Amino acid sequence: MSFDAGKLANAATRALRAYDPGHDLPALRRRFGATLAELGSNENPLGPSPRALAAIEAALPEVLRYPDPNGGALKTALAQRLGVEREQITLGNGSHELLMLIAQCFAGAGTSIVFAEFGFAVYPIAAAAAGAEPIRVRALPREHATMPRGHDLAAMAAAVRGDTRIVYLANPNNPTGTWVDDAALAEFLARVPPTTLVVVDEAYAEYVTDAALTTALRLLPRHPNLIVTRTFSKAYALAGLRVGYAIGAAPVAAILERLRESFNVNSLALAAAEAALGDAAHVAQVRAWNAAERAWLTAQLRARGHIVPESQTNFVLIDFGRDAAAIERTLYERGVIVRPMAGYHLPECLRISVGTRAENERLLAALP
Ligand SMILES: *Cc1c(COP(=O)(O)O)cnc(C)c1O
Repeated sequence: MSFDAGKLANAATRALRAYDPGHDLPALRRRFGATLAELGSNENPLGPSPRALAAIEAALPEVLRYPDPNGGALKTALAQRLGVEREQITLGNGSHELLMLIAQCFAGAGTSIVFAEFGFAVYPIAAAAAGAEPIRVRALPREHATMPRGHDLAAMAAAVRGDTRIVYLANPNNPTGTWVDDAALAEFLARVPPTTLVVVDEAYAEYVTDAALTTALRLLPRHPNLIVTRTFSKAYALAGLRVGYAIGAAPVAAILERLRESFNVNSLALAAAEAALGDAAHVAQVRAWNAAERAWLTAQLRARGHIVPESQTNFVLIDFGRDAAAIERTLYERGVIVRPMAGYHLPECLRISVGTRAENERLLAALP
């Protein structure tokens, strides 16, 4: 009998496909050099705080040691900054790991997980890995006046069943850039029973400029079934180091600790994240710069006739109204990397990160 790894894989994994980066980035960097515009992964082109880089250097001699399994110093800094207890925080190898961990700890066969159509790609994978039934809730229509393809919170609340352990909700959302404000989120949480965890994924929180949206953290004292996830990958520009965190009720965090890999966040990442958190001026500068550049890019694209919904993130979604694969290909050949959206069932859209002014101008010049 021949060996067939595919047949050995469990049912959930058999149904999944491996992450497809879409491009061979190292090859593209060799081909285009410094003129390559990398606008496909929502990275922050301003880079991290110089304090984070200095902290990495200072931590280098200690790489022979295992990292602090409790992430003590970073957790203390986060707790202080966020006004929560250390016991409420779970650190992750990127928030991606935490999103998976939450499903592994709380969902399983015979349970279900609710998320939105055009929501973040990790949620259905987390459901599959846990063996839970995925419930994908239809998004708001493309024609919606303010939040095209945004979360339909009423429909999501109605989709929650007795066996639903988790609702995943990115706010603002990737890839649509849409958001729900504090009032709408509070109303949603009031409708979800305490037998269901609500995971509000705030990966783009630091980029939000709409005063009506602050953070779901405010709702935590009233809703022990709420978990908020954040990351150092986006505004803090530490994507390569992989650090994220979850904030929830202490008993929820205690459950996550049971399955968390003891040394999941490496020592350089712990040091860099703590230092980055201490440089509030850098984040403020990133936020202000991004807001201005996002507005400029949106206006330029709209002036060229493109449909570009409002975004509270560091990317915009262009809706071409027809299959955008050829446009993506043209941009690619011109050294502008953007994110195709066919995998998100949005083949007519491209997601484009806000780049430096030079990168954004290259994008505008390369758009067919
Ligand atoms: C980028 C992103 C994340 C996570 O990134 P990590 O690098 O794993 O922290 C999580 N959620 C959303 C919606 C994202 O866009």
